[in-house]
Amino acid sequence: MKILVINAGSSSLKYQLIDMTDESVLAKGLAERIGIDNSKLSHIPAGKERIEITADIKDHVQAVRMVIDALIHPEYGVIKDMSEISAVGHRVVHGGEKFSGSVIINDEVMEAIRANSELAPLHNPANITGIEACKSVMPNTPMVAVFDTAFHQTMPKEAYIYAIPYSAYEKYGIRRYGFHGTSHKYVALRAANLMGRPIEGLKIITCHLGNGSSIAAVKHGKSVDTSMGFTPLEGLPMGTRCGTIDPAIITFLMEKEGMTYQEINHYLNKESGVLGISGVSSDFRDLETAANEGNERARLALDIFAYSIKKYIGAYAAAMGGLDCVVFTAGIGENNPYIRQKACEGLEFLGIKIDKEKNEYTKKGKEGEISTADSTVKVLVIPTNEELMIARETKELVG
Ligand code: AMP
Repeated sequence: MKILVINAGSSSLKYQLIDMTDESVLAKGLAERIGIDNSKLSHIPAGKERIEITADIKDHVQAVRMVIDALIHPEYGVIKDMSEISAVGHRVVHGGEKFSGSVIINDEVMEAIRANSELAPLHNPANITGIEACKSVMPNTPMVAVFDTAFHQTMPKEAYIYAIPYSAYEKYGIRRYGFHGTSHKYVALRAANLMGRPIEGLKIITCHLGNGSSIAAVKHGKSVDTSMGFTPLEGLPMGTRCGTIDPAIITFLMEKEGMTYQEINHYLNKESGVLGISGVSSDFRDLETAANEGNERARLALDIFAYSIKKYIGAYAAAMGGLDCVVFTAGIGENNPYIRQKACEGLEFLGIKIDKEKNEYTKKGKEGEISTADSTVKVLVIPTNEELMIARETKELVG
């Protein structure tokens, strides 16, 4: 069974074709600048050179057609024809309260995804465009929606209701939803696998640290709390997002600086986080270089980020009443030993002991244990694989 995984943005479309017999990636690629000038498709067949096809890609339907053409191309294609694609798995950002798992896409599901667009105005409409484009090019292929929010639907009410009038939840659905669910689920399952223990008996904290970052408490295989909230702005400070701050800062700044709704939104989403603190960059590689050259605010940004992770680890160990494993994943989690070390420093009282050498050498997409042999909590680095998780869920539903 071969599954096409699609992640559609407003002007982009990422894809992977996965052979589920051995879960290998047959090809992957990206259509960029759809509907804008200089659009192109980059296609990488497994083990071969990247192919770049420049064309005027006017919409997502054309992008999907180009993806299929690339996949079946006699020279750089990986399948003979479209009928080899058994199903398509779509990443959908917001499933609201309606979806606690992945679903086969039908008219009712499309309607519900549309209804959730208000909660994710930048993402859901783009995901819908991607689904509709695939439906028009592959009308007979089953499609599945895999939601970023679904894994966190198991949170108890005390973890997801905010302390504002309850009517905000009833009227507008204002509550914690959480994001990166596919990644948290994938690495939690993989951690249980590596530990050789059933996930139903484990208390795991998963730290997805990338441009967007979130942490989840996964108790017995279920998410019981997570740091992102109503939107992906809450929680850890991120590349350019502020994370959790005193909400009074917002009204204070709006008044002092005469900021509009759009301006404050931009300020908190695009000018804050480690970029805002350091004034250097949102990229952790740049921050490390600057910090090592003596830039104090770059060092401060790194340390604030690590300290914030440490606080969540403590909080979630308390929420779960214990801890068996901490997982680091995504760009920073997989590649930044300094952040991992700093975040775990002083947590020996919880049973977390980092092996400095192992930590230093675990990077560049490598999977590994970075805790010492006598650490009662296992600390693992696990490269995330959201595409594979989407393909697995798709297979489960259509298989
Ligand atoms: P992501 O959103 O998961 O792609 O993560 C982006 C973040 O990960 C950026 O801040 C990068 O600095 C960091 N990152 C990605 N790859 C590496 C790498 N090979 N070495 C160090 N940092 C990396």
